Formats: sequence, C-alpha cells, structure tokens
Amino acid sequence: MGKKEKKKKLPLGRTLSNNIFALRQVWEGSRSYFFMYYFVTVLNAPLNFLLTTYLVRAIVDSVSGTGWSTAEVFRYIFIVGGAAIVIWTLSNYYWNVPSVKANRQIQHRLKKKLYKKATEVELACYEDPSFYDKYVKAMDEVTSRVYDVMSTLDNLIWTLTSLSLNSLLLFTIDPLLIIFAILPLVMGFVRHWGQVIYHGWQMAGKPSDRKYNYVRRTFYLSDYAKEMRLGRFSEQQLSMLADVRNEKTKLCGKHGTKFALSSVLYEYGMQTVTVLGAMAYSLWRTLGEGQGSMTPGDCIVVLTSIGNVSYMLSRVVQNFAEFSEHSLYIENVRYFLDYQPTITEDESAPEASAGDVEIKNLHFKYNNAEKESLAGVNITVRKGEKIALVGRNGSGKTTLVKLLLRLYDPDEGEVLLDGKSAKEYRLSSWRGLFGCVFQDFKLFAMTVKDNVLLRREEQGDDERVDAALKASGAYEKVATLKNGVDSILTREFDDEGVNLSIGEQQKISLARVFAADAPFVVLDEPSSALDPIAEHKMFENMLKATEGKSVIFISHRLSSAVLADRVYMMEDGAVIEEGTHASLMEKGGKYAEMFRLQAENYKEGEKDE
Ligand code: ADP
Repeated sequence: MGKKEKKKKLPLGRTLSNNIFALRQVWEGSRSYFFMYYFVTVLNAPLNFLLTTYLVRAIVDSVSGTGWSTAEVFRYIFIVGGAAIVIWTLSNYYWNVPSVKANRQIQHRLKKKLYKKATEVELACYEDPSFYDKYVKAMDEVTSRVYDVMSTLDNLIWTLTSLSLNSLLLFTIDPLLIIFAILPLVMGFVRHWGQVIYHGWQMAGKPSDRKYNYVRRTFYLSDYAKEMRLGRFSEQQLSMLADVRNEKTKLCGKHGTKFALSSVLYEYGMQTVTVLGAMAYSLWRTLGEGQGSMTPGDCIVVLTSIGNVSYMLSRVVQNFAEFSEHSLYIENVRYFLDYQPTITEDESAPEASAGDVEIKNLHFKYNNAEKESLAGVNITVRKGEKIALVGRNGSGKTTLVKLLLRLYDPDEGEVLLDGKSAKEYRLSSWRGLFGCVFQDFKLFAMTVKDNVLLRREEQGDDERVDAALKASGAYEKVATLKNGVDSILTREFDDEGVNLSIGEQQKISLARVFAADAPFVVLDEPSSALDPIAEHKMFENMLKATEGKSVIFISHRLSSAVLADRVYMMEDGAVIEEGTHASLMEKGGKYAEMFRLQAENYKEGEKDE
C-alpha cells in the first residue's frame, strides 16, 4: 500500500484537470475574488521590474553619463511610482475588506459540498479503509489545497512575467547571458525530485498520524475518561504512542536523508554554477579584456538580474512540481466528491407511506467480514403490529435494522412495503417512515430541544418536544435543568452544559422517535441502560404513545417480548423461532429456555437484594 502511494504519479491530463478543478472552486465561489487575485499580480509584476532592475540601470547609466538625463530619470520615477501607489492602495483595500467576505463564501461553499456528500455515501464506505483514508484526507486538506493552487498559479504568473521582462533585458544586453540563466533549470528538476520524496514521506506518515490523533483523543475526550482510569487501558494507549514514535523515526531515516540531499544540491548547485559564472563574464566585458563593450548600467543589471532569472526559471519548474503535488491531494477530494453512492435519492420515485412491511430472504455480508451477518431472514410486520426481535449478541438484529432503513442494501432478497420493493420508493421518504433509536445512539452538543427534534425548530414544536419527553420518561429530569429544554447538552462548547447519565441520554434519544411521529418505530435496545422497573415503565409508555404505529423493538431482556404481538428469535443471522410469547413458551424451544433462564436470574437477583 505504502509502496503504491510512493510511486503514485498522476498523468499530465489529470494533473491539469485537478488543478483546474481547484481553481473552479474559487471561481464559482467568488468571481471578483478570482479576478482581483490575478489582476493585481499581472499589474504588479511589471511595475516591480520597472521600479527595481530597470530603474537601477537607468540611474547608473545616467550617473555615468551613458543614458538618460537626471530630469528624465525623475519623470520616470514620478510616473511609474505614482501608478504603483494607486495599484497598491486599491489592492490593499480589496485584500483587507471585500476579500474577507468572499473568502468565507468560497470556503463555506466548498465545505457544504463535502459535508453533503458525507451524508450521501453509504455506511459501507466507512468500513472500507482506503475510501475512509481518502475521505479523511479530503476533509483535512480541501480548503488549504484550493488556496495553494491559487497561490501557485499566482506565483507562476508573477514569475513568468518578471522572467520575460528580465530575460528580454539580458538578451538585449548580450544574448550569451541567457545560457547562464538556463542552467539552473536542471536544478529545478532536483527540487521536484525533493518534493516527490517529501510527499511520499508525508503520505507514509498518515497512518501513524491517525493513530496519534486517536490516542490524543482518548486522553482528552470525556467519552474515554472512565476507561482511562480503570485497568491498564492508558498503558496500552501510551504504548501505542511509543509505536507511533518508532514508526515516525523509521520514516525519518528512510525519507529524511534523501530529502536533505535534494535540498543541498538545489540550494548550492544553483548559486555556484550560474550566478558566479555570469558575474565573472560581465565583469570581464565591462572592466577586463572586453572593457567598454558593456555599460556600467548593463553590468549592474547582469549582477542583479542573472541570479533573479536563474531563480525564476527554477521557480517555474518548481511551480509545475507544486501543481503536480496539489493534484495528488485534490485527487482525494475529487475521488470522494465523484463517488457515486449506490443507495441514492430519486426525486421522481413515489413517496412511501405506512403499510405492511415484509422482509424476504434477506442475505447480507459486511465488506470486511468473512461470513454473512444475515443468512436468509424472513419477517413480516403488518401495519400497527408490535414486533419483538430477540436473540444473543451478534445474531444479526442490528444489521437487520440497518438494512430495513436502507443504510445498506442486501446482497440477496428484499424489503417490501405493501408488496413493492423498498428500492422503488424515494429514499428520503423511505427513511422518513422510521423513527429509530440506535443502540449506539449519539446526542449532539446542542440544546435538549434540538436533540429531540433533529431539525430546525418550527411553530408548535415546544408542545411536541414536551410530549415526546413525557412519553420517553425524560421529562422530569429535563424539568429540573436550569434552562429546561433549552439546556445545552455536553460541555463541549458551554461550561454550563449538562452531562446526563447514560440512562437519561437514552431517554432523550427515545424522545426523538415520539417527536418525529413516524408511522414505523424501531427501537434497538433502547432500554439497555435502564433498570428493569424503568424499562417496564418505558415499554408501557412506548406502547401507549405508539398506538396504531408499527413497532420493532430489540431487547436482550425477554421480559419485554411479552408485550409484543409477535416475537422473532434470531441466531447466526437467521430467524430460528417465531410466534407469540405464549406459543413460543408452549413450544418449549430456545426462546422458552432463554426466557426461563432470565426469569430465574431476576428471581435470584431479587432474593439477593
Ligand atoms: P446484534 O445486533 O444481534 O448484536 P449485529 O447485527 O450487530 O448483531 O451483528 C451481527 C454480526 O455482524 C456479528 O457477527 C458482528 O460481528 C457482525 N458485524 C456487525 N457490524 C459489522 C461491521 N460493521 N463490519 C463487520 N461485521 C459486522
């Protein structure tokens, strides 16, 4: 993998198109910004030449009596200097005032594009390490790279303009001088070689950087604070940190020496070969045997310009090398943005509405897994039915829910709504059918109200949120908070933010289901953090609040399955028993055995208490 990265070089066409892609992001974000960026450079480069090299030559030739009169020199300074002041003032104003707004606009537009894509890609992408790698790199780099491309192009325009003017002047003085200027081009290739090494070094270090960032997070995020203080978790993290250091040191040994060599060759090679050679030649023409064939002004131009010309030539080569480096990074961004999700929104597809759901012969294997997590599941949920899905950990219950929501699509089989495949409905309306609480639900650093609604607030939402919190059992707790439903959860952004217990958090996430008022409710272990009494109460509330709606609930406590219209018991990705609680108990199979075992455990528990 590392080897592949190192050798990676994109074809010229792709390099060009990637850089144009970056420029287009700025152009589409703010045309005036784009225009000003280069307009200023196009004017500034010649002005700079006229006010330095050309002016010095004029002054020296005037002083030595071989050129303009003093009055002519002053007139020149007055006109060119005046033009420069006007342009500098205007550009300064632009860069300090209007450009700030334009800049924000460009960045916002670009980030929005990426974030939108991030919500469109399937969950399966997050399980594909190479996709995830590109995704993280794209997110990290995108804005800075776009500006880097702008800046490289700016540099190229500046350099090419100055180079043309300086070369023209040198050429008119003595065409032979151009030879000295062209030599450093070779050095540009050395520099390019250095950059390829550097890129390889950076890329090879990314996996270690990710490990380092992970370790860092485990030390500062409150999520990990408890585990960190228990057992030997922190030792393990520290040893991971030591691994990162070793990996980085190895990389430094592997790439650092080559990189240093390229820098030394570039820096010193250029100085010695060209600048000193050209200086000796023009001194010889002015003062030595060829005395008098060059004016003092021309000699000064050579002394100052030849180094600049050589430098500028190598800069041009370097600019192209930079474009090729930017292109490698932008490739990640484009790969991510061009990715075509297989589960997509078709706005012309029909809207889904409440009905009978049939899960038919569903097979599914995760990309990175060896065996199927679902191996031919059949389940029916009629409108308004309450279904319990039970089974040991790893039997495939959550996977089934993910497929039901079309977070993944099955390898075989299908989910039908009133006899029509889920894939035929509009995706957003399909997902909108379901109100879900996931086992690994997440609360966001926002107010309780926002966390329950998970959308912008509308009129009448206060009552809706209160009712939802009451139904989920979170209302009493929220009522004790200083700012009620407007209290901010977590202390991420607010020192007064509220940290809730896991049971309370679960109730808030459950309230989302009630507030969404979806016709189909899916609860994946919503009661795992609750005690049996609170769980019972929650289920009672839930049944009351979901009257008329279809419900699938997953619980490891079979006591809740008693409340269901039908129970499906899963094992190894398949349904092994189904029926009402009573019929399954009568059957005396695995469900009955597990139910009795759990009931005994509770009794034991009660005795112990
Ligand atoms: P349950 O919800 O019944 O505990 P899951 O649906 O979470 O079971 O898991 C079913 C099987 O699929 C398990 O063997 C689990 O290890 C595997 N699995 C779950 N998620 C992934 C994943 N993202 N990648 C690979 N395997 C997974």
